Amino acid sequence: MTEGCVFCRIVAGSSPAEIAYEDDAVIAFKDIYPKAPVHLLIIPKRHIESLAQLERGDAELVGRCLHVARLLGEQTGYADRGYRVTCHCGPDGGQIVYHLHFHFTAGRRR
Ligand code: AMP
Ligand code: ZN
Repeated sequence: MTEGCVFCRIVAGSSPAEIAYEDDAVIAFKDIYPKAPVHLLIIPKRHIESLAQLERGDAELVGRCLHVARLLGEQTGYADRGYRVTCHCGPDGGQIVYHLHFHFTAGRRR
C-alpha cells in the first residue's frame, strides 16, 4: 500500500468503492464520475504508478488486467457490442490518479 494513494486505499478496503470484480491480483470498480453508461476501472492490486513505470516482469499482471476487461465485457452484457479499454499515462496523457488503471467504458460509441 502506497501512502496517500486512493486506489491503494480501495484495494485495502479503507475507501469505499462499488467492486465489480476481484481476484488475488486485480480489482475492478465503478468510476466515481462515469463518462459512459458503464465505466469501470481495472487496476492491479500492487501499486504501479503508471505505464511509464512498467517493468518487463509486470507484463503478466497487465495481461491479467486486460483479461479482466474481457470478463467485464461478458458480465455487463457488452461482449458482442463491444467496449473501450483506455489507459492515461502521465500529464499529457491526462493521468490524474498515479496508480496504474485501465478504464473500461461501454454503452456509447464515442
Ligand atoms: P485518470 O487518472 O485520468 O485515468 O483518471 C482517474 C479516474 O479515476 C477518473 O475517471 C476519476 O473519476 C476516477 N476516480 C478518482 N477517484 C476515484 C474513486 N475514489 N473511486 C472511483 N473512481 C475514482
Ligand atoms: Zn496505489
